[in-house]
Amino acid sequence: MPQLMFRCPYTNKAIRPGIELARVLFQAMMDHPISMDCPHCGRQHHGNIADGCLDEPAPPLVPSGQ
Ligand SMILES: [Zn+2]
Repeated sequence: MPQLMFRCPYTNKAIRPGIELARVLFQAMMDHPISMDCPHCGRQHHGNIADGCLDEPAPPLVPSGQ
């Protein structure tokens, strides 16, 4: 399942709060507030689910029918 990912506004580094979220749930929870402790700058960031994005693994390569 894709993992929810945010970006630290101070260090511009990725924050992964360790929340796995299906794409349909991500879209359904866009307005949901979230706060997280940032491991990069040590502050707490507040926002909505919509501020984040899903860190989806690349789809597996499909054999091209050889
Ligand atoms: Zn931060």
